[in-house]
Amino acid sequence: MSQRIKMSERAPEIRNKDFEQVNLGYTDEQAAAEAKRCLQCKKPLCVTGCPVEINIPGFIKHIAANDPAGAIKVLKEKNNLPAVCGRVCPQENQCEKHCILGIKQEPVAIGNLERYAADKAAKATQTSQKEAVLNGKKVAVIGSGPAGLTCAGDLAKMGYDVTVFESLHDSGGVLRYGIPEFRLPAKVLDREIDSLKALGIKFIFNYLIGRTKTIQDLFEDGFEAVFIGAGAGLPTFPGVEGENFNNIYSANEFLVRINLMSAFKFPDFDTPIYKGRNVVVIGGGNTAMDSVRTAKRIGAESVKLVYRRTAEEMPARLEERHHALEEGIEFIELTAPVKFIADEKGFVKAVECIKMRLTEPDASGRKKPVAIEGSNFIIETDLVILALGLHPNPILPSLTKGLETNAKGYLIIDDKFMTTLDGVFAGGDIAGGSTVIQAMGMGKQAAKNIHAYLSR
Ligand SMILES: Cc1cc2nc3c(=O)[nH]c(=O)nc-3n(C[C@H](O)[C@H](O)[C@H](O)COP(=O)(O)OP(=O)(O)OC[C@H]3O[C@@H](n4cnc5c(N)ncnc54)[C@H](O)[C@@H]3O)c2cc1C
Repeated sequence: MSQRIKMSERAPEIRNKDFEQVNLGYTDEQAAAEAKRCLQCKKPLCVTGCPVEINIPGFIKHIAANDPAGAIKVLKEKNNLPAVCGRVCPQENQCEKHCILGIKQEPVAIGNLERYAADKAAKATQTSQKEAVLNGKKVAVIGSGPAGLTCAGDLAKMGYDVTVFESLHDSGGVLRYGIPEFRLPAKVLDREIDSLKALGIKFIFNYLIGRTKTIQDLFEDGFEAVFIGAGAGLPTFPGVEGENFNNIYSANEFLVRINLMSAFKFPDFDTPIYKGRNVVVIGGGNTAMDSVRTAKRIGAESVKLVYRRTAEEMPARLEERHHALEEGIEFIELTAPVKFIADEKGFVKAVECIKMRLTEPDASGRKKPVAIEGSNFIIETDLVILALGLHPNPILPSLTKGLETNAKGYLIIDDKFMTTLDGVFAGGDIAGGSTVIQAMGMGKQAAKNIHAYLSR
């Protein structure tokens, strides 16, 4: 049996002080050897685990034959962002989970191979992108995260004249402002977005649909369909005493300041950030993991991750959990905050926590955490980051008559990805997605349905 080939990584004690990439990628020899582990199944189950239905054995076959350009061609048939997906997809819950090799040994490292092909063949891809012949129909895409980028890319390839409206000053959504450079370098993202621009897609920045212009205005401007990929950027707060004290950040604010505004380089850059010495991050998802690892990199002496279940139940990708532990992050499991305590100037100085125990799984299949009475204890801190999940921002639906949401604020869409407004489609986190590849899958399905709608 051949062993799965591990990708080399930078040493934890070195990488936890900078923002350079942690994973170093496969060499040509490693990639070819890993690709040769693929059994080339006639009915590949891995593809059923991929929301954008990449021909996985097809691209891997090219890598096994030392042909990364052929591999990227197959990848790009379905995936506009392979270098992104190869770095951030939770493959263990998707394609690799279904790999038949996984029954008796480790599954093929599909994500690592995707990353290899995308990085290796980047130049070849850029030169081979061509603008499609325009069909004269204009489509507006709201938001430039993975949902919007995928929908825009697929529509442009079909010949639509696509404009992406983005409220921030740069493209990529969470891929740029949330996920740090050490996992997804901006230059890798730029490369993939450049290849979308080469399809003729136009980007308009600093443009908040709902306020700068309404969806109705877009139709009046000649757009014949609209796709909403506005994400879910509104942070959740725990609702406990003292959560508004100074130096308590939402993870979104913390990560945006650092990733998008380079706050850790203040005063060379305009945006400041408080660099905590004893940092406490509350949560267990990818956002929490990115926050702990970022806090460590900007100089914290101690970083504690407080989570109400155990590490096993954390929703964060396995690799991020593993990397965080290696980098010196302390996990405090089965613990929840009950109160934040501040000094006389209103700056947080401690978190009062309580121990939890897990009961039997509930209807969602997850074990419910219950507080253990009298188990309260104090953790001293000078910076708290709250990473408790995100919800859709209500601005767009509240300013758009007829655009309906469910009780949790997510846009209601039908099986054609159309919202409650005719000609307005949606996908990604704003319509209930929660990963990059889900957002891309929804963007892709929406593009197909927009094409059907405009071809009636
Ligand atoms: C810190 C962090 C780390 C994550 N790590 C991972 C990971 O490792 N793997 C993974 O699979 N998933 C991860 N996720 C989840 C993943 O990033 C999201 O599921 C995905 O980005 C959703 O894509 P989207 O296109 O729906 O929205 P977003 O990426 O949120 O993009 C939405 C875009 O729309 C713009 N916008 C919003 N409203 C408007 C408006 N009214 N007008 C114009 N523009 C607007 C926003 O500025 C934003 O750029 C992470 C999330 C976070 C926050």
